[in-house]
Amino acid sequence: MARFTLPRDLYYGKGSLEMLKTLSGKKAIIVVGGGSMKRFGFLDKVVNYLTEAGFIVELFENVEPDPSVETVLRGAEAMRTFEPDWIISMGGGSPIDAAKAMWAFYEYPETSFEDLCIPFNFPTLRQKAKFLAIPSTSGTATEVTAFSVITDYAKGIKYPLADFNITPDIAIVDPELAETMPAMLTAHTGMDALTHAVEAYVSTLNSPFTDPLAIKAIQMVFDYLPDSYKGDKMAREQMHYGQCLAGMAFSNALLGIVHSMAHKTGAAFSTGHIPHGCANAIYLPYVIKFNAKNAAGRYAEIAQSIGLTGATDHELTQKLCDKIDEYNAKLSIPKTLKEFGIQEEEFKEKVANIAALAVGDACTGSNPRTITPAEMEKLLTCTYYGTEVDF
Ligand code: FE
Repeated sequence: MARFTLPRDLYYGKGSLEMLKTLSGKKAIIVVGGGSMKRFGFLDKVVNYLTEAGFIVELFENVEPDPSVETVLRGAEAMRTFEPDWIISMGGGSPIDAAKAMWAFYEYPETSFEDLCIPFNFPTLRQKAKFLAIPSTSGTATEVTAFSVITDYAKGIKYPLADFNITPDIAIVDPELAETMPAMLTAHTGMDALTHAVEAYVSTLNSPFTDPLAIKAIQMVFDYLPDSYKGDKMAREQMHYGQCLAGMAFSNALLGIVHSMAHKTGAAFSTGHIPHGCANAIYLPYVIKFNAKNAAGRYAEIAQSIGLTGATDHELTQKLCDKIDEYNAKLSIPKTLKEFGIQEEEFKEKVANIAALAVGDACTGSNPRTITPAEMEKLLTCTYYGTEVDF
């Protein structure tokens, strides 16, 4: 038996934030990030709409990027004191991810991250509150997914939380919130969305329910990301919807080793953080070549869906990789880790350990081709130097 879960309601379009006027409930806590939602006036709008709907509103502000265990526990404490029946999370992936975890600790104060970390093992939520998410970036799609990532800085580990209980009840996908994204963030989050859709399409858990969402998302990214990057508002709007479709696909079909690699390399090097979407964009063509041994037919279908032609599945797969290279170049994304600025000595020193960690990542299990730590080390080395993947 398989399961397919999405939010009960999804409101979209410019001005769709206004739906909050019609939300029914008594108390709402708004979980937000560092200040852009406030600066651009969206936080005020949300507070006003909820007040108009008769809610008593409380704010939980300043959720940091890559939210911490401490922030989650503080948020849950605030919720236990205020007792909201709606949790409203808004902003980039971080405040929404944090709010999902706060929700679990609000309803089950005695739970632990170790328990929540076991995939699809959450206690039943919605005993105290429902959950609404409003994304301001176009990539993570956490507004429609069953996932959240919380960082334990003291232990130096990330807790990947996965359970359909944390799929929001309502998502508001209002493109006006994404209009203020800087160009670089637009490029990275857009390529993250493409990676979600491609990995979901070739995942071992792909299904007739997720395939159409993944293919449409892929077509939309190829159609709209370059113009969205340049600041075109219509393209920016379409990307906001396309990334959401990709989220619906991967929340149900899961991901693959592009994400395993991005998760374990993101904070691994002393030269600085590799943004998640940028890491995915670099790794995607290499991983497609590695996976093609098992999944060339599926990649060929993706290639055909964006109008590429070729005589064999392998030719189509190659053309798909060329297309991704072309888009990365347009978006000023480097082709290799070396070009990104990772030092060669440090890479060589750390690659074996990173490879072992990447193989153990939660996303590896649904990749269409199995991979050993030695193969992962070879693959990462290809992404460092830009050499051919021929194994
Ligand atoms: Fe991602």
